[in-house]
Amino acid sequence: MSLPNPEDHELKTGDGGPATEDQERKAQETTAGSEGGTRHVPPSAFLGRLSCSRRAASIRRPTRLLLYLAAVCLCLAGAILLLRSGAGRPLQSPTPQMGVDSRFWVRVLLLNDATACMIEAGSPLHLGSAGGPLLGRTSVPVPVRLVGGQLQLGATPRHDDDVLLSPEQPHIFRLDGKEYRGRLRLIVNPDGQSFDAVNLVPLEPYLAGVVGREMHDCWEPPALQAQAIAARTYCLFTKNRFGVNRHYDVRRTQASQVYDGVAAESAPVWDAVNRTCGQVLIELDGQRADRSSASRAGAPPWWTAAWNPDAGSENETLPSPATGRGCNLPRCSLFPAYYSSTCGGHTSSSEEAFGVSYGPLQGVACPYCRDVARPEIFYWPTATFDRETITKQLLGRYPNLAALREITDITVMAERSFGSFSRFERIRLTGSTGKTDTLRGEDLRLALDPSGRKIRSAACRIVPWGTGWAFVSGQGWGHGVGMCQHGAQGMARLGHEAQSILQYYYSGAQIVNVY
Ligand SMILES: [Zn+2]
Repeated sequence: MSLPNPEDHELKTGDGGPATEDQERKAQETTAGSEGGTRHVPPSAFLGRLSCSRRAASIRRPTRLLLYLAAVCLCLAGAILLLRSGAGRPLQSPTPQMGVDSRFWVRVLLLNDATACMIEAGSPLHLGSAGGPLLGRTSVPVPVRLVGGQLQLGATPRHDDDVLLSPEQPHIFRLDGKEYRGRLRLIVNPDGQSFDAVNLVPLEPYLAGVVGREMHDCWEPPALQAQAIAARTYCLFTKNRFGVNRHYDVRRTQASQVYDGVAAESAPVWDAVNRTCGQVLIELDGQRADRSSASRAGAPPWWTAAWNPDAGSENETLPSPATGRGCNLPRCSLFPAYYSSTCGGHTSSSEEAFGVSYGPLQGVACPYCRDVARPEIFYWPTATFDRETITKQLLGRYPNLAALREITDITVMAERSFGSFSRFERIRLTGSTGKTDTLRGEDLRLALDPSGRKIRSAACRIVPWGTGWAFVSGQGWGHGVGMCQHGAQGMARLGHEAQSILQYYYSGAQIVNVY
């Protein structure tokens, strides 16, 4: 029996791989002002003056050596400061695309079930649209809390359960200390006990907040560009697929793709976003995309139809589990361009991992990530779970498994071998009642370890261990579907451009512009 999670296919990320690593990796940025007017003296000039002076010549050798070393250190420090100040703060201002059609805005869930938050902006903050009443002055924090099921902003009760806040140029606000572009919407949840905070942001600035968290911004430009196109495609697919019946399109976490607002931006990130502006991946096979119309002149017909609710009910556009393929309606042109940190040597198909097939999401050999990913990323240590924990985690995630009671056996029913390793695809669970049930491999992995940091992939073996089981010989990080991020960097190092990288990992997909 399959126990699908209705939002499983929204899951994309490397399950904790690249994003967290990126956060740890980010260097502290130093402003240009740190140089503070210090006069820069090149070491050659310094030594030159010494050599031209008889007095200098009399300076003892140890002193000269120390002076030389000091000069070299000063020069190195200056160079580092210059590089950091130049590479770290290329922020675009004002926020681009603020006038773009609202169909190309993204609604990002920043806070879920919050009871209080603090809002601040470096520019005047308005209620409603940009021309609305002034809520707050520049850099004056506005506390938000719930009073009697209504939002209270500052000292004045709003008596409202849905508030839009719009900062003036550069259209950047701060929510609990973190900067985001665009606008902020606060929505009281139906029970009146909490509220959600949703960032309304145009697509390109949104991607600038994603690419720098999903990939190292020091990686090769083609890899960053491929990441931007994949993230743009994934976002728009998710907006179409899941955003229709809820007040947000994507989450800011690995549940969608990691978005960290302005803090994730840098010069290489903006460069990758700008160079690929509007580019998405589409599946050509069996769909009605008119490539000739997919130009910058305007949204192509398939795109317009994709955003028109009258083009067909959402259900009609869903991939059919029976056929394993999407239908021929226009919005099927977009596909969820999944990606993950490290495939371990061979990517997985979406059919194998999630049970839904998309033409471009077939497994391909990946000889590129092994040499790029650090050994501790490529391989992962044995993860052990006792029987009690496994039972609790599985029954908590899938209540239907309660009929099994305690899990007494875990057997791999289906696995895909790639020669040196294999990835488990379907698992049979046996309970203390003697009943059995099955789960997809990815479902088992994430039910036992939702963070994905212990059982990092399904590319491992499951063996009995004490009163429980051990996941051993693991390699790769993430579900392995779609683009392998470390593999993309490996291909870029070999000279491949973004298009080549994307066409390798999303075979048959084409790049078109949506604007
Ligand atoms: Zn790979």
